[in-house]
Amino acid sequence: MNSPRLSNGSLASHDHPARLQLADGRVENFYASDVFTLRVMQQRLPKDVFKRLQRTIVHGDRLEPDLADVVAAAMKDWAVEHGATHYTHWFQPLTGLTAEKHDAFIVPDGSGGVLSEFSGSALVQGEPDASSFPSGGIRATFEARGYTAWDCTSPVFLTRNAGAVTLCIPTAFVSWTGEALDHKTPLLRSMDAVSEQAMRILKIFGNASGVTRVMSTAGPEQEYFLIDKEYYFKRQDLIACERTLFGARPPKGQQLEDHYFGSIPTRVMAFMSETERELYRLGVPVKTRHNEVAPGQFELAPIFETANVAADHQMLVMEVLKRVAPRHGLMCIMHEKPFAGINGSGKHVNWSMATNTGVNLLDPRAETHNNLQFLTCLCAVIRAVDLHADLLRSAVASASNDHRLGANEAPPAIISIFLGDMLADIINQIEKGATKSTMKRGTMDLGTKTLPLLPRDTGDRNRTSPFAFTGNKFEFRAVGSSQAVAWPITVLNTIAADSLDYLATQLEKSLGNNPSEAKLRDTVLSLLQKTVKQHKRVIFNGDGYDKAWHEEAEKKRGLRNLRSSVDALQTIADKKNIDVFRKFKVMSKIELESREHIYLEKYIKQVTIEAETAVLMARTQILPAAIRQQKELADAVAATEAADVEPGDLRQQLADFAELVSRFRVAIDTLEQAGETDAHEPLAHAKHIHGKVIPAMLELRKLADTLETHISTDLWPLPTYREMLTIK
Ligand code: ADP
Ligand code: MG
Repeated sequence: MNSPRLSNGSLASHDHPARLQLADGRVENFYASDVFTLRVMQQRLPKDVFKRLQRTIVHGDRLEPDLADVVAAAMKDWAVEHGATHYTHWFQPLTGLTAEKHDAFIVPDGSGGVLSEFSGSALVQGEPDASSFPSGGIRATFEARGYTAWDCTSPVFLTRNAGAVTLCIPTAFVSWTGEALDHKTPLLRSMDAVSEQAMRILKIFGNASGVTRVMSTAGPEQEYFLIDKEYYFKRQDLIACERTLFGARPPKGQQLEDHYFGSIPTRVMAFMSETERELYRLGVPVKTRHNEVAPGQFELAPIFETANVAADHQMLVMEVLKRVAPRHGLMCIMHEKPFAGINGSGKHVNWSMATNTGVNLLDPRAETHNNLQFLTCLCAVIRAVDLHADLLRSAVASASNDHRLGANEAPPAIISIFLGDMLADIINQIEKGATKSTMKRGTMDLGTKTLPLLPRDTGDRNRTSPFAFTGNKFEFRAVGSSQAVAWPITVLNTIAADSLDYLATQLEKSLGNNPSEAKLRDTVLSLLQKTVKQHKRVIFNGDGYDKAWHEEAEKKRGLRNLRSSVDALQTIADKKNIDVFRKFKVMSKIELESREHIYLEKYIKQVTIEAETAVLMARTQILPAAIRQQKELADAVAATEAADVEPGDLRQQLADFAELVSRFRVAIDTLEQAGETDAHEPLAHAKHIHGKVIPAMLELRKLADTLETHISTDLWPLPTYREMLTIK
């Protein structure tokens, strides 16, 4: 619908229906066939109505209310023709999931029949009960009123579930007092902020003509695990927590690195292609699929879209992955660290800014050193990340992502920027006061004439950086695989808008009207020089896993290392952060404080559920197995003695095992008691959980995993890592 043009000017859009030839020769219109696209609107709406609606969708103008009735009628007809009986306002409450409440199109006509009806007001506004969604203290439960409001910039679509077809209308969700209770509202506000500030930069460089809007664009890559459905339902930890709380390391994990990009197992292939078909119908432009590093781990990536559409589509990606997997006897696990000792899953969020005319503001082009507009945008991002590293860190904080960030496979918790050799070189030139050259891409000769000469990029990739420049966009790699991407993108947009605003203001002041080319260049370069000097500490092109970097980052550069989510989350509502969100009208102080509250509560709940599940499994599954094993050993000792043979070793084995079992029993009690606290205020409670409950859970796990390797396979009650990580 309103997808951005790619840098080459072609439209990456929902508007090109693509055809797929099926095995039986039928041709199916498979792309976006369940989406109320601009193309469909154009066919079904009166010309002037379509034009006016398009102004909102494409140029960001305010939605005119009198359009609603006409659009609603066309939308309903289209939906009913496609088999829909119900509609729903589809929104993203702060649970991190999506929510829907279905209403039928039909209403009684008063004389025993029914009318099929869908009014403009039903399209534009809904009123779900808001009391059961998290509000972070914004409202008490008795103040239940909440509103949903149609976001016409994200395409309306149909969902098909068990034969029921439902028209889904993407909406924002706010309280009666107007505070955002969802992820979409702040995201849309932050997109307005980016647009407004980036337009000022375009004007300064004389590139604003014909441009009405700058969009932030996003392409989120989704990593996930698949495991056999049978194993999944035998593990209460997977069911309740989406991760294994116990499990000994398998002899063969990912050491051989034979899974990454390996050939895709047949059952997984069937699952992937069905998922992709469903997503295509929904207009989600999925493109890439491959095996990931860990056994049982895979990735799916769509082509980027405008940020709010990408954020909605990302929710659909997660839903469809989860819904399709069981049809193939699989379960899809989005948790950041389902298996200890095995790589976790992330969600790389690729981010950039592009004009509605198709220009990517983060494309360095060939003569980068002369591309002052690009360099200004680049420095804006560097400044933004340096000033607000804490916000970026907190935007990816969760109990589940804590297992990943800082561990040896994911970016560290220290936020820094990787630029690559070419840009690092130009940044050095800027710091010295003049930009003279751009490093050229070379070519690579593979040593045999039959292979082509390959262009060689100016720098290698860096997989250890949390925030990396990758050619013509930034890749925010610290985002967790189970997370909704709207909030991290909102943070990025807001802090980018802030730095674009800062640079634009300085430049506008110094340049005056119609500056000469030379004055423009000098003024820009001297401002960028100052900016680089102030913020270059955040640039790091080395190995983010290296211990020496952690020392240097904290001690020499003064970068923050917010190791745990509890450390990170308490920075959300710091004064500096409240100021930046308020300045760009993305979030009020109340809204921001509510976020901190909600995320801390979520942290507390998530770990508490894990601890309770661990205690339950330990006591009702693992301990009984251990006791049976102990009895078998004792029986063996007794039987050996009865046969007049000295049991020797066996007796010692029994004694050692009994001691292990008794330590395990104590650890269960310790974990059970660890949760008790007088701290009820969220931050204090979360600190308690982090300091007391998590270590007790780890201790219990260590003992359980030792038991697993000492208990006979036929007595062990849980599917093991060995079994779960192999998909046949
Ligand atoms: P890799 O795994 O090597 O990082 P992928 O091809 O898996 O690369 O993913 C790259 C992602 O970046 C894709 O989703 C792609 O659409 C997205 N992307 C490319 N250009 C942009 C852009 N200008 N803005 C946002 N995302 C982009
Ligand atoms: Mg990537």
